Amino acid sequence: LGSSYMSTVAQPSASKRNPQRVPNLIGGSFVDSKASSFIDVINPATQEVVSKLPLTTNEEFKAAVSAAKKAFPSWRNTPITTRQRVMLKLQELIRRDMDKLALSVTTEQGKTLKDAQGDVFRGLEVVEHACGMATLQMGEYVSNVAHGIDTYSIREPLGVCAGICPFNFPAMIPLWMFPIAVTCGNTYVLKPSEKDPGASIMLAELALEAGLPEGVLNIVHGTHDIVNAICDDDDIKAISFVGSNVAGMHIYSRAAAKGKRVQSNMGAKNHAIVLPDSNVDATLNALVAAGFGAAGQRCMALSTVIFVGGSKPWEAKLVERAKALKVNAGTEPDTDLGPVISKQAKERIHRLVQSGVDSGARLLLDGRNIVVPGYESGNFVGPTLLSDVNANMECYQEEIFGPVLLVMEAESLDDAINIVNQNKYGNGASIFTTSGVAARKFQTEIEAGQVGINVPIPVPLPFFSFTGNKASFAGDLNFYGKAGVNFYTQIKTITQQWKDSAAGGGKANLAMPTSQ
Ligand code: NAD
Repeated sequence: LGSSYMSTVAQPSASKRNPQRVPNLIGGSFVDSKASSFIDVINPATQEVVSKLPLTTNEEFKAAVSAAKKAFPSWRNTPITTRQRVMLKLQELIRRDMDKLALSVTTEQGKTLKDAQGDVFRGLEVVEHACGMATLQMGEYVSNVAHGIDTYSIREPLGVCAGICPFNFPAMIPLWMFPIAVTCGNTYVLKPSEKDPGASIMLAELALEAGLPEGVLNIVHGTHDIVNAICDDDDIKAISFVGSNVAGMHIYSRAAAKGKRVQSNMGAKNHAIVLPDSNVDATLNALVAAGFGAAGQRCMALSTVIFVGGSKPWEAKLVERAKALKVNAGTEPDTDLGPVISKQAKERIHRLVQSGVDSGARLLLDGRNIVVPGYESGNFVGPTLLSDVNANMECYQEEIFGPVLLVMEAESLDDAINIVNQNKYGNGASIFTTSGVAARKFQTEIEAGQVGINVPIPVPLPFFSFTGNKASFAGDLNFYGKAGVNFYTQIKTITQQWKDSAAGGGKANLAMPTSQ
């Protein structure tokens, strides 16, 4: 089943005739679920059913956790160099199959092939980072903390960990999770998004081919019920979640009540502040790329721009560039933005745009009635620009997660920073300016986890961490980077004393030991 998945699902024409069932991965085998209910995985450009995703049964879920638990003792004792070598091989295999992975992402998620390659590549970089795990998880040592006594700390894996993924980066986000976890010596249960599980299955095939022992990575499928089962299971020690706030906060509290560690990356409303001294051309390109790329379905998409000193001088140029973007299926050449993930997502975007208009926003560009020839049933929304937006509007308060850029005005940099800091989310924020003084003020005062200075999507590479702030993150150890390694390990501190057998003796001292 496993080896055929990559070959058939990656070919939309084959899957159309006979949608394949997405397998579970349990104890090193891809197995067909005995589920009684299935969800259609739908190509958002065509509405074709790509595959059928099972609601993994409770029995199968328990088998996956038990396989991970069984695999843990020998995997944690496998030399770190061997674990790193599996990642070294995995990165090579991801490169080999980059095109197939990207095609799966485009087929199930909708983004353009080039963007899908970026999705895979940004995940690949985490795998590359995991190749240096021996250095990353090194402990600390202080010699002679008291006479003849040394203290040192070592980082040990937690046991079985789990990951719950969103739809928008079907390759990158699973790769934020299991490569770091397993290279630290943990075993894993991954729950891909029910909307686009294909890339996770392919990545797991590659991990097995790279030599990951059976049971170290397992995959289960479903929605709320399986997520709750993950939160409640006593054998799962830590959960990585990426997705919306409703799900993320539910998982955070339910899993914490069971004593688990949770890192939860959630929703966003990322602002760009544009100062009048910014480079006009570069700024317009950045706004259009980060506002409409991936049809706005990135947690780091720039969804609001605040023009300091007024938006009027910018509006016509912004409309001109947004209008020039090509909306089409992600597999078509020269497409700038593909469809949004579902009919429901499209309807929600339409509703939020209309709510903006109804509450007084000015529609500079309306992408709601777009029809893409050859893909008439696709969930397309064209680039949309709403101006005169204010902080009380629903379209501003809600994360739209579509190709909609809101335009606001501020009188000064202080006013603009104030608007951003009042927003409940704090994933990312960028400033466009040629003033170092303004940029430094922004960097210091802005309440956002990822800050861009003339950079529209400041997502850090894996040697740093993905550092959302406010409602965009719950937990204290972020994804990847040093924090990611800390998340997937716990510290053991050892205090040792080796005395010459002739020394010692005398009366026992019952007072608290001190180093005096
Ligand atoms: P989602 O919350 O609907 O789904 C994410 C996962 O949670 C899925 O696996 C889903 O099955 C599960 N789930 C959904 N609702 C649940 C519930 N009520 N109870 C239990 N489980 C539930 O998110 P999505 O639509 O797939 O992804 C888009 C969201 O993810 C956006 O809000 C976006 O900003 C966010 N996101 C954030 C980051 C980040 O790093 N901050 C990255 C990517 C996406």
